[in-house]
Amino acid sequence: MADRLKGKVALVVGAGSIGPGWGNGKATAVAFAREGARVFCADIDRAAAEETAGIIKEEGGEALAYRADVSTATDVAAMVEACASAFGRIDVLDNNVGIAEIGGVVELTEAAWDRVFAVNLKSAFLTMKHVIPLMERQGGGSIVNISSIASIRYTGVPYATYYATKAALNQLTKTTAVEYAAKRIRVNAILPGLMRTPMVEHSAGLAKSYAGGDIEAMWRARDRQVPMGFGGDAWDVAWAAVYLASDESRYVTGLELVVDGGITLKYA
Ligand code: NAP
Repeated sequence: MADRLKGKVALVVGAGSIGPGWGNGKATAVAFAREGARVFCADIDRAAAEETAGIIKEEGGEALAYRADVSTATDVAAMVEACASAFGRIDVLDNNVGIAEIGGVVELTEAAWDRVFAVNLKSAFLTMKHVIPLMERQGGGSIVNISSIASIRYTGVPYATYYATKAALNQLTKTTAVEYAAKRIRVNAILPGLMRTPMVEHSAGLAKSYAGGDIEAMWRARDRQVPMGFGGDAWDVAWAAVYLASDESRYVTGLELVVDGGITLKYA
């Protein structure tokens, strides 16, 4: 452990992983703990949250697992209260939940539109709403919102709600960053590119949209799009989050940190 987050308490929302392997939230929670943070691992799937907390505890770190649907106001209020009462404070909030529904505006149902907005965008509003007053009382904090390069580019996949929610998350990040800068609460976004995570593998429509349902062909197709020649992984996002969570980035706020192997540079 390099102790870059020593003494800090981190609330990671979406700390589980949909399948075996490493999702962005799971890797981020473990990386935070390896850097000395106590980590509150929240996820809609209790077993997934427990798995992440278990890895941290096995490595000698401190973690708690918690079940919450962060698209729901009551769950978010209870989650923040539970984290603060277990660990006494919240220094870092990592908003990692995100889902994708394939479809352009014509194909999408109204229910799918509402669900993606609730999970990808309302969740960040609700978590920040409840965590920021606490950070204000503590004299500061760091919020990391996990956006996507889909917030600034058409990535080749038709998913209108994903593009719209991630773009809105960027602007919510930047305006909130300005509002709370004087209170020493930093709000930044990470824009991952094409990462190999379980969510991408298990997202029914994604492989179909890329390569007729062939997962390996999807990974190859994604690799070919990236100037570096390969997709990133959850640890690339996790280490970016460690930097933004730590005091090393104390003068950085409102940033859209692109972690994408150069793909957004191709068609600027
Ligand atoms: P992940 O971290 O493995 O999974 C996110 C976790 O959030 C899952 O365990 C999921 O639970 C949970 N979750 C979903 N809805 C929730 C809710 N309402 N309340 C609480 N938890 C909830 O996924 P990932 O692929 O690594 O993606 C994480 C983030 O990175 C997302 O915001 C995504 O948009 C973003 N991102 C990913 C990529 C990529 O290529 N993977 C690229 C750009 C951006 P369930 O599994 O039970 O639903």
